[in-house]
Amino acid sequence: MTPTVGYLEERFNAFNEMCFGSALPRISIRLSNARSFVGRLQYRRVRNWRGRPVRNEDFVLRISTRFDLPEAEIEDTLIHEMIHYYIAWKGLRDSSTHGRIFRAMMQEINAKYGRHLTISHKSAPEELDADKRIRAHCLCVCKLADGRTAVTVCATTRIRSIQRAFRLAPSVLSQQWYVSTDPWFNRFPRCRTPKVFPIEADILLSHLEGAEKI
Ligand SMILES: [Zn+2]
Repeated sequence: MTPTVGYLEERFNAFNEMCFGSALPRISIRLSNARSFVGRLQYRRVRNWRGRPVRNEDFVLRISTRFDLPEAEIEDTLIHEMIHYYIAWKGLRDSSTHGRIFRAMMQEINAKYGRHLTISHKSAPEELDADKRIRAHCLCVCKLADGRTAVTVCATTRIRSIQRAFRLAPSVLSQQWYVSTDPWFNRFPRCRTPKVFPIEADILLSHLEGAEKI
């Protein structure tokens, strides 16, 4: 999907309440056409007369719309940047960019809310595209009741249980299973639970060309 400012603001508010106890002040969110990042937090460090940093201000959160990413990845990117925002706004001193404080917050959010945040900015498109390892993926393409198409890359031990869950889910109209070695699918987590990643049907189709139906 391609996010809009309105969408990102709505998600920001929702995650602020859910993951940060509404501690974060409103922030200016802007879209970017950058190739080099998916999300980035910018701010200005204010120093005292001794040159010591005293506070941070002029926060801007940028999200690139250059690539069509699954919604869950855009959300994870937004939350990742929100952790940076929390640390910078509070003026906390972390041990590095993704140091002890960052990791602790990230791990807590992942565990509590079932997110897949990473510290490696693995959601940067160049990194996703750079993952060329050939692996066999079992995946399911679902037509959703709202008209969207979604993909689920599935742990092989969970095919049956996920198949069953989709069959029973009113939000899933149909499912088709494939085996594919296209490295493009490396970017998706191997799901052990029935999780769907909505994706542009055309993009998905182009990566299903060499896939085998199962
Ligand atoms: Zn980061």
